[in-house]
Amino acid sequence: MHSVHKQAGDFTRRHRLESHAKAASEHPITRLQTLAGNAAISSFIGSVYAGRLPASPLADLQSRSAPYHFVLGGLIAVQRQAAATAPPAKAVSLASGMEVDAFSGWAVAYWRNNPKQTLRALAGYLVEQANVLLRQNGVPPMTLIPGRTQPGDVGEFTDENWTIKVDLDEFAADTQPPIPGVPLQPDSALSDVSAMAAGKLAGACYHEARHCEVAFLRTRVAAERMKGPKSRMEDVDPDEAGELARAQEVPVRIAWEALAAAPLSDADRSEVERIVPMGPGGRYYDYRRLNDKLMSLTTNLKAILVEYLARRASAAPLERFGPLVPILKPAIHDWVAKYRPEAEAILERVHEVKQRTQIDDDVATFTLEIQDDLDRMAIEVDRLEAAVLTAREDAAKPKAKGADEQLEREEASLKVMQIDEAYLETWLAILELHSTAQEAYRAYPHEVDAYAVMGRVESDVQGIATKAQLGVP
Ligand SMILES: [Zn+2]
Repeated sequence: MHSVHKQAGDFTRRHRLESHAKAASEHPITRLQTLAGNAAISSFIGSVYAGRLPASPLADLQSRSAPYHFVLGGLIAVQRQAAATAPPAKAVSLASGMEVDAFSGWAVAYWRNNPKQTLRALAGYLVEQANVLLRQNGVPPMTLIPGRTQPGDVGEFTDENWTIKVDLDEFAADTQPPIPGVPLQPDSALSDVSAMAAGKLAGACYHEARHCEVAFLRTRVAAERMKGPKSRMEDVDPDEAGELARAQEVPVRIAWEALAAAPLSDADRSEVERIVPMGPGGRYYDYRRLNDKLMSLTTNLKAILVEYLARRASAAPLERFGPLVPILKPAIHDWVAKYRPEAEAILERVHEVKQRTQIDDDVATFTLEIQDDLDRMAIEVDRLEAAVLTAREDAAKPKAKGADEQLEREEASLKVMQIDEAYLETWLAILELHSTAQEAYRAYPHEVDAYAVMGRVESDVQGIATKAQLGVP
């Protein structure tokens, strides 16, 4: 449910075809893929390391099709109603009870009236209805695109492309089926989908739609800063739109609409400013980027390790963990070398803040925890390496005769146990970092806001569905 996600670029896919020898120069985690055999995961991790391609917002200009824009001698004039003379009132948004109720009502009606339709059709309908509300609120609608989200996420709104993904495989895997033993599928009929599941899907779509709305509001606030307060821009300067798009990491057409939009009310502006310190251009955007990176790296590392170890479940510890160490150790030390200084820079900045808010405190607390977790991971993987080396040396020693033989066997088995223990500690350190990153993510103000509206939709859908089943008007 992140609002910004990095796509796995095609340039990372080449890893799959490369030989062992060539792979030696690649990132160690990519080599772990060869052991684990999960190309998709490593391709993803590779893309995180490779960084993102520079955005080309101008590409959007060619494909844009909003009917009320037309090119006029280099400027694009935007036809709009004359600016209102009265001060702007607080705008209605997806956070309003009215819109939550409307959306939940639509979700229940579709779910009840279309028992033969599929989960996939419900998701499509929900995104459409979320777009109805967004348009009504003056927000450009999202484009629904197919594809997988990050593990653990049902929905994904991407600011850069203004797209939403709803991953029904992820949703089905993560949702209790109404009939035990009959797991949900993206093509499950709605008659097999519980009200709770329908509410969960509706909530996930609404959560992402709220990210979309807040992203647009954030862009409007930045647009107002750019064009001066309370003025309305009848003629949008393409250069300004491009600049705003780059700063806010949104398509140019979105920046354009934000520049052309009416001024926000003071109440709306201050609410938006409260929600978006971790958005592009925000005070703590770098903190969020760091944390998001670590969350996806640990998610994928967990998946790789589980898969790798499952294939060697019956092997002795030395064979099981031995090949892992030369890959895991440099990877983890790489993370520490790369991300610890980033954490340090963030902490330095927080310490300069004179009047700290809850947000500053959260950033400081979580960043310190991230540093500790990174350090612990490095220590544990070093211990794992030491345990493997000791056990290996012992195995290579010539065996003694007689009574000592028994003693040496016992010693050797102790050392093997130490490998197991050191691996467990390394695994726990990875989990610890992952859960710190996850907690930090749940505390982002824009996530707190999106989770709140999501929860309201979930319970609203269940409430309406229950009333309908009981025949309550
Ligand atoms: Zn989210």
